[in-house]
Amino acid sequence: MSNLFFASALLPQGWAENVLVRLDGRGRIAAIGTGAPCPSDAERFAGAAVAGIANLHSHAHQRAIAGLGESSGDGSDSFWSWREVMYRALDRMDPDDFEAVAAQLYVEALKAGFTAVAEFHYLHHDRDGRPYADPAETSHRAVAAARAAGLPITLLPVLYNASGFGGTPPTAGQRRFIHDGKGFQRLTERLRAAYGEADDVRLGIAPHSLRAVPEALLAETVAAHRAASPAGPIHIHIAEQRKEVDDSLAFSGRRPVEWLLERHALDGRWCLIHATHMTESEVAAVAASGAVAGLCPTTEANLGDGFFAAESYMARSGRWGIGSDSHISVSPVEDLRWLEYGARLTSGRRTVLAGGPRRSTARRLVEDAQAGGAQATGFEAGRLAPGMRADIVVLDTAHPLLAARQGDALLDGWIFAGNANLVRDVVIAGRTIVRDRRHPREDAIAERFTHTLGRLLG
Ligand SMILES: [Zn+2]
Repeated sequence: MSNLFFASALLPQGWAENVLVRLDGRGRIAAIGTGAPCPSDAERFAGAAVAGIANLHSHAHQRAIAGLGESSGDGSDSFWSWREVMYRALDRMDPDDFEAVAAQLYVEALKAGFTAVAEFHYLHHDRDGRPYADPAETSHRAVAAARAAGLPITLLPVLYNASGFGGTPPTAGQRRFIHDGKGFQRLTERLRAAYGEADDVRLGIAPHSLRAVPEALLAETVAAHRAASPAGPIHIHIAEQRKEVDDSLAFSGRRPVEWLLERHALDGRWCLIHATHMTESEVAAVAASGAVAGLCPTTEANLGDGFFAAESYMARSGRWGIGSDSHISVSPVEDLRWLEYGARLTSGRRTVLAGGPRRSTARRLVEDAQAGGAQATGFEAGRLAPGMRADIVVLDTAHPLLAARQGDALLDGWIFAGNANLVRDVVIAGRTIVRDRRHPREDAIAERFTHTLGRLLG
């Protein structure tokens, strides 16, 4: 593994030129030097290097139906009607299909500048709702797809037990997702045995939501996970939809985030996906907890969820990251841009999330998303510093959209100007996976994906 040399790079202390990244034998950064010429044994990159961003919320199988729910129905289309379309379309997906779709997604994610994915994975059982011979079959397929693409993965097996608050029985459309407590423990034990020592896999859990996991089961599952895996992340969907808030209030008299805060000691291992509908006191409590808010602005826009209290939460130094969730868009650029644009549209001001006067909006967004993504996925990544993984994105500074820009202006150009992909190279654990916008397996993976979709949707 050769050392890496970049014309410029964003380091924790700021931008530097002529940056040499020395690697250890595991693809981590051993040392960083600046200001000297490129040594003969280093791989040279002409662009600007930044630490990659983790995609902290993915349902890979939904990539198969991206863009298929955009024709109007009876005039009352919503998240809930979209969900029925999704359940029906994915009914036929088998493990081979899932792996083909996930591999395509992961290649797209890498080329867009994501350097890890947290797979919130709930398609566990066969078409009749029976466990596969290996109950971890589809989890293994997610890892296989990530390895085919070269993308580090945090596997978040989903605990899904009920269709609504109070433990109402699952619907027929949910039969492939369902576990009881014991079955879920067996699944997590198998995954720990298979991947506990892997450098490219992290393991966490994902209780699906407060509506899908009754109170006692949630408490027992979180306690078991903490005992077995003290650092392992815990992700949960929360307060995405107004109806979910209303149902929670009707059931318990508490809003979802309020309920969770009262019963669980949130800390840096938790990731609250969406957290769209919060009161000011909930915003303050989540920001103070150290948990990450997992924001998915393009999916939240596509599904009509609402807009996260970004300005207030970030003013309180709340931690957050981004995910592409339903994969209606697979791009850190579009999700970060939408976050700022949502804040502009709702406030009537500009540079709302820059964090103060004379600061680059994109720098704030990118650095927060790098840190929050690393925290929520559990990878030692998110900044170019010794001890971190060498997961690096190189921007194409020769592209006209970045002409005559340096430093933070490169980031502002990347996030806000145009729609061309400005990510030219992507390095994972010190190895260049995407080189000059090409992934070595992209043609074969796309061909298999196209064939799979022809069968699934044709
Ligand atoms: Zn989700």
